[in-house]
Amino acid sequence: MTFKTLDDIGDVCGKRVLVREDLNVPMDGARVTDDTRLRAAAPTIAELADKGAIVLVLAHFGRPKGVPSAEFSLAQVTQPLAHVLGREVRYVDWEGDKEAVATLQPGDIAVLENTRFFGGEEKNDPKVVERFASLGDLYVNDAFSAAHRAHASTEGLAHVLPAFAGRSMQAELEALEKALGKPEHPVAAVVGGAKVSTKLDVLKHLVGKVDHLIIGGGMANTFLAARGVDVGKSLCEHDLKDTVLEILDAADKANCTVHLPYDVVVSKEFKANPPTRTVNVHEVAADEMILDVGPAAVEALGDALKTCRTLVWNGPMGAFEIPPFDTATVALAKTAAALTQSGSLVSVAGGGDTVAALNHAGVADDFTFVSTAGGAFLEWMEGRELPGVKALG
Ligand code: ADP
Ligand code: MG
Repeated sequence: MTFKTLDDIGDVCGKRVLVREDLNVPMDGARVTDDTRLRAAAPTIAELADKGAIVLVLAHFGRPKGVPSAEFSLAQVTQPLAHVLGREVRYVDWEGDKEAVATLQPGDIAVLENTRFFGGEEKNDPKVVERFASLGDLYVNDAFSAAHRAHASTEGLAHVLPAFAGRSMQAELEALEKALGKPEHPVAAVVGGAKVSTKLDVLKHLVGKVDHLIIGGGMANTFLAARGVDVGKSLCEHDLKDTVLEILDAADKANCTVHLPYDVVVSKEFKANPPTRTVNVHEVAADEMILDVGPAAVEALGDALKTCRTLVWNGPMGAFEIPPFDTATVALAKTAAALTQSGSLVSVAGGGDTVAALNHAGVADDFTFVSTAGGAFLEWMEGRELPGVKALG
């Protein structure tokens, strides 16, 4: 994977740089409830402005489907971004944008209105690509989280303007390359979460890539059931038995050790702090649900991680939102974090609930890299080439 970065962009002083960022932040009224994405965008914007570029930020916000509205206007994100940057940020509407951009000076920063106010954005319509391109001299894509979509602002622009990866995009690509592109072996993958069906392509890809595949969460139930274990009332996709057996067979052929839990925490109720039992997987009663991996299995998994150099993690080990079923996820996350801090493990994690779980465990900062990219992260774990990344190459 080769791509140009801001190190290769040359003299940008006085040049108009279109910077694709992810400004799709959650809001409660006028308040941004989580500014992670704004903080991720800041370094690239600040670096270019410091070098005298006229920085024109392109981003989508929500799903306006080509219809402009105040609800989906990026005007409301302009001040929060200015606050995070500690600099003035202008807002430029799609009416009179050419004139507005022409008044900007080197070092100025402006947020252009929602790219999805053009119906052709999501269709990668060449006319929309041209519309955006006419405003800028150079293109920087800093939104890895939108790179799995071939849209005008995420893919099309890279073909018509000199294109570079922003710092956030660069950090993400470098971390992912270290984790699965050219990782140091042995490599472990933790795949958890609710269902096998949502992560079939991830599992199929990983068995050929990693040395240890650790299955947790609800999807472990489907694996256990496929191997003939009675999982009682647990969340389980019985219809995937053949698929799971194929994955296990492929893992065997690829010398990938699949780790399934051998003890589990069960309960009759899916609520906070119900009565629970910790049992061997063969002792789950007909009216019980498996809601977490058991302590003996967690300890064994920790020992397996100690032999590994690289870890990629997606999906919690149990129903971590509900205590005490966060126990296995928190314990394994802490082990991975400690191994990372001691320098023996490169750890990369991603996924909406995974990030929440690592934050809950208080170890997100101790991982080598935590991706907040969601869909793009999962597609990358499936081994797919992301169009927005490919276009930078
Ligand atoms: P991510 O968003 O990180 O990709 P997923 O969405 O695939 O993760 O999975 C997270 C969900 O899986 C959580 O809501 C969690 O409660 C659920 N889950 C994990 N283990 C179990 C289990 N044993 N039974 C039911 N749900 C589970
Ligand atoms: Mg999820």
